[in-house]
Amino acid sequence: MSYVRPNIAAMAAYVPGEQPRPGTSIIKLNSNENPYPPSPQVIEVLRHFEDELLRRYPDPFAHNFCQAIAEVLGIPADWVIVGNGSDDLLNLLVRACANDAARPIVYPTPTYVLYRTLAALQPATVVEVPYPDDFRFPLKELVAVQGAITFIASPNSPSGHVVALTDLRDLAQQASGLVVVDEAYVDFAESSALSLVQEFDNVVVLRTLSKGYGLAGLRLGFGVANPALLAELFKVKDSYNVDALAIALGTAAMRDQAYKNTCVAKIKASRTALTRDLRELGFTVLDSHGNFVLAMPPQGNAEYLYLALKEQGILVRYFKQPRLDDKLRISVGTEEQNRALIAALAGLTNAA
Ligand SMILES: *Cc1c(COP(=O)(O)O)cnc(C)c1O
Repeated sequence: MSYVRPNIAAMAAYVPGEQPRPGTSIIKLNSNENPYPPSPQVIEVLRHFEDELLRRYPDPFAHNFCQAIAEVLGIPADWVIVGNGSDDLLNLLVRACANDAARPIVYPTPTYVLYRTLAALQPATVVEVPYPDDFRFPLKELVAVQGAITFIASPNSPSGHVVALTDLRDLAQQASGLVVVDEAYVDFAESSALSLVQEFDNVVVLRTLSKGYGLAGLRLGFGVANPALLAELFKVKDSYNVDALAIALGTAAMRDQAYKNTCVAKIKASRTALTRDLRELGFTVLDSHGNFVLAMPPQGNAEYLYLALKEQGILVRYFKQPRLDDKLRISVGTEEQNRALIAALAGLTNAA
């Protein structure tokens, strides 16, 4: 006898990347966090945060934050919805749109595992369309499903590839349901699907402050879509899904684009170096548009290397699932962290 719904009892829990306690001397390259701290302007707002704002409920629509986003992206503020991380918005979209097997949730794989978890919670039927090995976009197969939502992570994790705007436009045109473009890693890429939001009323673009802005601990993300769709989503949203501190700090982060751009430039340069160094060690590495790389060791012994690195205090991500269990997803760290990783891998691959 279970006290919870059958689909909850039957489903597997989502397993986030390991989070060692702060202060332990671990090189943490497993959750695609930004290796650099948030903007000094964010810390400034944190230090002078008014107590009074904690006593009151926060602005349910986070107008100040939406305004800052609107100015940076050149869109109207009423095209923005704010979430407790973009995970909150993914959850909200599934709850709002998924109903039964007639209209499943569909997405190409391998991708962000949380899409499957959120569908299982409903429960909603899931159709997973495998990417071919060259990551050509499986447009026809996705469209054929006519899902309630088609999720596309671009740049995708863990592959790091970007889906071409023309492919996303074709998808938006041919899909009868929502097309949600999850742009968690867009800050590290050269293109975005943001323009499609104005072209198509079924497109939602999701962004986060967790990766590019170095604020994963704050939990703040946002979505861009037309106001008619947002009006429906607001009915489903928790009234106070984003707290007062997150609104204030997120606004400061968004207003300091120069700082974000400096961090992103450093990370992109490190990504190039890391890719080159891994290839020199014999790894097969896909060109990445995120702040991580997917790397296949020359001997395919990814699980061994994951465990051996962990012994040495270096955490990377290992996915024990078909097509990924011979690879490691490695977040781009500081230059010093990346050097330590390469030195450790050089020792391990020579020994093997
Ligand atoms: C990190 C990540 C998210 C979640 O971001 P949060 O805003 O921290 O919830 C969403 N989608 C993808 C693909 C991610 O990698």
